[in-house]
Amino acid sequence: MVPHNLADALAEAGRRMDARNWVPGSAGNLSARIDDQTIAITRSGVHKGRLTAEDVIAVDYAGNALAQGTKPSAETLLHCQLYRLFPPVGAVLHGHSVAATVLSMQGAITFSNYEILKAFGFATHELDVVLPVYENDQDIARLAAWIEPLLVRDPPVGYVIAGHGVYAWGTSVEHAYWRLEALEFLLSCELERRRIK
Ligand SMILES: [Zn+2]
Repeated sequence: MVPHNLADALAEAGRRMDARNWVPGSAGNLSARIDDQTIAITRSGVHKGRLTAEDVIAVDYAGNALAQGTKPSAETLLHCQLYRLFPPVGAVLHGHSVAATVLSMQGAITFSNYEILKAFGFATHELDVVLPVYENDQDIARLAAWIEPLLVRDPPVGYVIAGHGVYAWGTSVEHAYWRLEALEFLLSCELERRRIK
């Protein structure tokens, strides 16, 4: 049910995220839009650096698995929400990096005057870009409902859940990976900058 090319692209993104230490343990989840009814997403409890085709399953936009006996990642509803709200989104990647985890426990994150901000389509580096930090909540449906008006009002370049990790997205798995990499670079810079202050 999940096209091979999408499963392969997600497995490759998982390996790359693992190589950067962004998905420790069974952390993180990766997804891609199949069509206007179906999403491919990693199943619960698997290591994202060692994904096989069986580890990527199909769900509907309400987060329900389409094949019996498969269980999607706990945070599936956050992925579904991004596909529902933003039609250009083709893939969503979520990891738990050290920089995102530590920085988000200190409150809001603003990136100012970094050249790499141009990776998000801005024409200049001379700007302040806020990366929203949302409170963590184990009730994912409640968390999704709470952040929905915030995402709609002011679509961010990505977001962080406090003490938890980053959500990044793009038009394809490769594009989402680029944007995640740029966000992780910015988070690492910000962490270093605060260290030497
Ligand atoms: Zn997570």
